[in-house]
Amino acid sequence: MSFEASWFDVESHVTPADTIRKQLFINGEWSDAAGGRTIDVVNPATEEVIASVASAEESDVDRAVAAARAALDGPWGALAARDRGRLLWKLGEALFSRADEIARLETLHNGKPIFESRHIEIPAAAECLQYFAGWADKIHGETIPVRGPFLAYTLREPVGVVAAIVPWNFPLLLTTWKVAPALACGNTVIIKPASQTPLTALALAEIAHEVGIPPGVLNVVTGPGSSVGRMIVGHPGIDKIAFTGDTSTGKEIMRGSADTLKRITLELGGKSPNIVFPDADLDAAVRGATTGIFYGKGEVCAAGSRLLVDKSIEEEFVEKVAARARKMVPGDPLDPKTRLGAIASKKQLENDLRYIDIAKKEGATLLAGGERADIGTGKGYFLQPTVFAGVTPEMTIAREEIFGPVLAAIEFGDVEEAIARANQSTYGLAAAVWTRDIKKAHYVARKLQAGTVWINTYNVYDTAAPFGGYKQSGFGREMSLHALEHYTQVKSVWVDLNR
Ligand code: NDP
Repeated sequence: MSFEASWFDVESHVTPADTIRKQLFINGEWSDAAGGRTIDVVNPATEEVIASVASAEESDVDRAVAAARAALDGPWGALAARDRGRLLWKLGEALFSRADEIARLETLHNGKPIFESRHIEIPAAAECLQYFAGWADKIHGETIPVRGPFLAYTLREPVGVVAAIVPWNFPLLLTTWKVAPALACGNTVIIKPASQTPLTALALAEIAHEVGIPPGVLNVVTGPGSSVGRMIVGHPGIDKIAFTGDTSTGKEIMRGSADTLKRITLELGGKSPNIVFPDADLDAAVRGATTGIFYGKGEVCAAGSRLLVDKSIEEEFVEKVAARARKMVPGDPLDPKTRLGAIASKKQLENDLRYIDIAKKEGATLLAGGERADIGTGKGYFLQPTVFAGVTPEMTIAREEIFGPVLAAIEFGDVEEAIARANQSTYGLAAAVWTRDIKKAHYVARKLQAGTVWINTYNVYDTAAPFGGYKQSGFGREMSLHALEHYTQVKSVWVDLNR
């Protein structure tokens, strides 16, 4: 796989600023924010400002909503479903062909290793677009055998104007999880990317325009969640919010959309249990526990941040995970060999260090990491991968989402205690169980209160499989045919056949 420089000079990390899209994308056109304000985007690996992106005002949001509505009532609404699918497929194709440059952009604003963005996440984003491209002409209603001389049938129609409010941890992938089903179902979209990571959503808009997606169908409005996000949530011209992010923000969005009774789907935080029984393939489980927490620097809503281990093997097992953690040295995210990049922001690094401090004070045993790391540049928000043993379910790091490379190992005595401890959380996004006992595996999978359960693996996803939360991890499902429900509404049509 080549890493040829196109937009970026990899060696010096210099970003040719004039090649990055920084303006709002509304109705197929680039424009500055009405007030001319901007927000700086920082490369967390170098602490340098790599772009200043438009910070929208209310009138910009109004323009985006008007453009999205006009496209819905105009060319997009009139387009045959199959042609919508063809455009989405082309968008996916274009993303595949530009994966090198988009992956580099993703790494620059997020700090994730180029290995993850180039080989996993950008291809997954392109695949998501193409998966939903295939659905576009297979979304339809049904005829219903009602009583009486009537023909009754249903139409499955788009919800309307959809706002996708996206976080900074998987900026492009999570955008496509929302945009792809929304467009496949015939909606129009306004993307509000995270302020830290708006660059790949803007690149997606550019590519969408190039492949022929009509003006107004896909708009990008950048700016702070506290202002632009709130305007979107309260806007009467928006029909649905698809949100991923913090649980507290999700609750605010739910309250904020009540007045206009918007449809909402919320994919929120997690504190996912990764349960290891003594009869598991323990080498595989050690690897799974490691990638479960350290992939994506632990900035993953489904991260396996609670490692629940049978007490008969706890000490030896957790030490093996810690030994692997000690060998994982954070590195330059643009180096293809790096497997642990930079924490996404100064704020997030401070948040991780604060939790590490709390864990120490509450009596957890630090086995690995725990300190800020330096990759030899004296710059960047790097953190050593961190493992705590001897964590009890009451401790803060066992309960709260840290959203960083910090693992809390907790012991259990038997199967029922493992289940009870796993479910002892306000969250319910994902869980895993490691055992060779097939009956135990399926028994535990059914008892776990989580939207995804992995058996003898961790962190596997596919666009064809649904993803979403139980409990305070949110509601609604992303990806798969289940996502289509959230982007369509059903209309019943009755025809009198009396003669
Ligand atoms: P947020 O939930 O605040 O941000 C997610 C998105 O929502 C961003 O686009 C943000 O914009 C926007 N937003 C923020 N406030 C509002 C609002 N009131 N109305 C509408 N949109 C809003 O997450 P943070 O970035 O603040 O991260 C805080 C914590 O959230 C993390 O430490 C982590 O624990 C958790 N988190 C969980 C994620 C998950 O996937 N489960 C993803 C990201 C964070 P802007 O960027 O401009 O603030």
